[in-house]
Amino acid sequence: MEFDKDFTILTVSDNCASLDILGSILAPYYDIKKAGSTGEAANLLKDEDINLIILDIAIHNNDYHEFLKDIKSNEETMRIPVVLIGDSSRPEHEEKSFALGAVDYISKPFMASIIKARVNNQRMIVNQIRAIEELGMLDPLTDIANRRGFDNRIKQEWLRAARDKTCISLAIADIDHFKDFNDKYGHVQGDVLLSMLAKQLVSMMRRPADFVARWGGEEFVMMFPNTELKGIIKYLETIRESVQKMVIPDLPSTTISIGVAAIVPTLEKSMEDFFSQADKALYEAKNTGRNKVCSYNT
Ligand code: GH3
Ligand code: MG
Ligand code: MG
Repeated sequence: MEFDKDFTILTVSDNCASLDILGSILAPYYDIKKAGSTGEAANLLKDEDINLIILDIAIHNNDYHEFLKDIKSNEETMRIPVVLIGDSSRPEHEEKSFALGAVDYISKPFMASIIKARVNNQRMIVNQIRAIEELGMLDPLTDIANRRGFDNRIKQEWLRAARDKTCISLAIADIDHFKDFNDKYGHVQGDVLLSMLAKQLVSMMRRPADFVARWGGEEFVMMFPNTELKGIIKYLETIRESVQKMVIPDLPSTTISIGVAAIVPTLEKSMEDFFSQADKALYEAKNTGRNKVCSYNT
């Protein structure tokens, strides 16, 4: 098996030896984070994207119980599978762990081959779920993310930006006079244009965190984490021009209008307001001639 950097395992135990053994068995294959207490583990869960938790139930004064309950009742963490490790001489623990929502129980003493196999099973399940979720987040016409996919991504970036106090820019692009285009060239050609436009927008994304999705109909949304308004306005101009220059055989050139807003998120600010700011800017672009970029100014 190769090293899978996209699978991060949080190992939790107050027994250093246990953490070291687990680490040495799993670190060649996965990204491993170690927590010496449930408190430390809770902090890591806030900051890191964790795919699996391995929790030692021998952790002092049995607070694994509370910890597990917290994980399973928190919207952000409830879907992370938890594997418990414990004493083989206490089968009642194994029974109880499933009742608490754990997906597996591994008995001590550790056997490398068993740990590797059990963890790999969990990785396969997590990856299957990921694939299914991604399917539900894809727009079938354009093969890029749909609104759900975008919501999912921007929620993560919003939290990250709030933590790091960085600026996110959000742009909504809408095809100009698309109804006329459909009326003149037909819906099938309209669909072709939507697909070409999606590809064009994807090709204009420069950084790994930049993200574009079909918001619905003939509207696309773009997110630029860690990007200030001033800089992105200039770049959106470049995107707008690139769309205008797009060549589709037998069809006229198309234009888009773009509205953009930027924000440094905080807990008090709402994502809906952020979207409606970008939407207001788009409205302004439409009302002042189309084929342009307008920004929302606070
Ligand atoms: P504006 O410049 O103000 O945006 O005008 P518009 O005609 O683009 O906007 P309007 O909202 O009046 O019309 C949107 C059109 O988008 C109407 C609809 O037929 C078309 N449309 C929405 N989804 C699809 C789709 O999946 N395929 C095709 N071919 N057309 C679509
Ligand atoms: Mg529209
Ligand atoms: Mg339109």
